[in-house]
Amino acid sequence: MLIDAHAHLDKYGDLLDDALRQIEQEQIFTIATAMDLSSYLPILQIAEMSDLVLPTFGIHPKRAPEYADHLSELNPVIEQSRAIGEIGLDFHWVEDSSQYPAQIKVLEYLLAAAREQKKFVNLHTKGAEQEILKLLERYDIKRAIIHWYSGPLDILRELIDFGAYFTVGVEISFSETIKAIAREIPHHLLLTETDNPGGLKWLKGAIGMPKEVEKVIEVTAGLRGVSSAALKQTIHGNFVRLIDGDPWLSDVTALLASAH
Ligand SMILES: [Zn+2]
Repeated sequence: MLIDAHAHLDKYGDLLDDALRQIEQEQIFTIATAMDLSSYLPILQIAEMSDLVLPTFGIHPKRAPEYADHLSELNPVIEQSRAIGEIGLDFHWVEDSSQYPAQIKVLEYLLAAAREQKKFVNLHTKGAEQEILKLLERYDIKRAIIHWYSGPLDILRELIDFGAYFTVGVEISFSETIKAIAREIPHHLLLTETDNPGGLKWLKGAIGMPKEVEKVIEVTAGLRGVSSAALKQTIHGNFVRLIDGDPWLSDVTALLASAH
């Protein structure tokens, strides 16, 4: 099965049915990450339509200031969600540094919940890669997906040593920096994503459909000198390992096992 470890299915609008059809046809297991409460509710409804969609609750760093003073109100949704994401820090696109303390407060709250509730996390790290590494260490979060890593190679190596997983996404086709990062990520920590529908839209002005993950596999496989089929198998195996023994995801483990 193909793995799309980071997508925003609530943003498809009229194209949602087409997207879900592709997910089913191409058998793409998809983690549908929320950015806040108002995106989580539609994601839950979307997940009702396909077993291949895992809905996860998180507060995106850009949304953090709205939630920083009401965090305990989020407890019921945090508990309901079977993994935590999208969460993280953004010290690059968010230029107003007065928002950073709120970002950190929200992230720490959600990391503490993930540790306590034994859930994996899906992380946005833009411009704050070093801080994310420190927080993963402090909260002892061993099961982390770092989404669309684009930071420095030295911190990438430290995150690799820590054991984080990394998604390579649609930018692999367009960026030498991302290609260099994709070469550096060891085989056993590599995952794929699309950040659909906005990832490709941001890069190329075209709405990203789920099948884009096949292109990501093809380009990454070429770069690493393996076949697309072999890489697809590796990534499936990596995701299975990431969720191995996860008390919340035994049905997903069974679903992925049946896909072999
Ligand atoms: Zn995202």
